[in-house]
Amino acid sequence: MRRNMKKWLFAALTVAVLVVSACAKAPYTGRNQFIMMDSQQEMALGASEAQKVIKSEQIDTTSDYARAVTRVGRRIAAVAGHPEYKWEFHTVKKDVPNAFCLPGGKIFVYTGLFEAAKDDAQLAAVIGHEVGHAIARHGAERYSTQVVAQLGQLGTAIAVGSQTSPEVAQAAVAAYGIGVGVGILLPYSRTHEYEADRIGLILMAKAGYNPEAALTFWQNMAAKGGKKPPEFLSTHPADENRIKAIRQLLPEAKGYYRPASS
Ligand SMILES: [Zn+2]
Repeated sequence: MRRNMKKWLFAALTVAVLVVSACAKAPYTGRNQFIMMDSQQEMALGASEAQKVIKSEQIDTTSDYARAVTRVGRRIAAVAGHPEYKWEFHTVKKDVPNAFCLPGGKIFVYTGLFEAAKDDAQLAAVIGHEVGHAIARHGAERYSTQVVAQLGQLGTAIAVGSQTSPEVAQAAVAAYGIGVGVGILLPYSRTHEYEADRIGLILMAKAGYNPEAALTFWQNMAAKGGKKPPEFLSTHPADENRIKAIRQLLPEAKGYYRPASS
């Protein structure tokens, strides 16, 4: 009994130390974050996951769409304030209105998105959102939450006694290792989506795009109806609520507006 208590205390302390040593703040919003992955690990993970996507999807490098993604992506990246990121903006030839980002600044836009993104400013709303996920390190944050959940399981297993199931122990060990891709492509939480919208509006304004174009983009998306893309949908409020939220965020974003220097 006493020995179990000691083990339990040890596990709890380990988690506590990890939590304390892993506090971060999201850019622009100042939200407190728990991230226990350093930037180098994060970038290595993003780079290797990006290679997998590039191998498995049809990447478009020559169309007008691809050129627009590169053009807008570079402008947003230039104001994102992360020179250490190796920004990549890829276009995937697929008729799905979607986009996603991997840790460390690897952004993918599907050609199907151009049915709703009618010009550079509207595309900037999407890319700004994805860059927002990247600089707020949402992937690493989600990963960290999962690791702690698994450590928690392990701690509980030790506490309740003796037989830590091999599966739980293995999961905890695996979660420590980088490269297992734990949850990297799971949907973001609503908190993350809202925050990415907010940061995205600010970034597009800083890059010289009128943030109101985000409203037009989401109205176009809403008008399309039908099945919504996974990244934008699953945990996200309906288009209507999103449009309402964006409207409220516009004054803040406009304060960052700088006309683009040609
Ligand atoms: Zn998102």
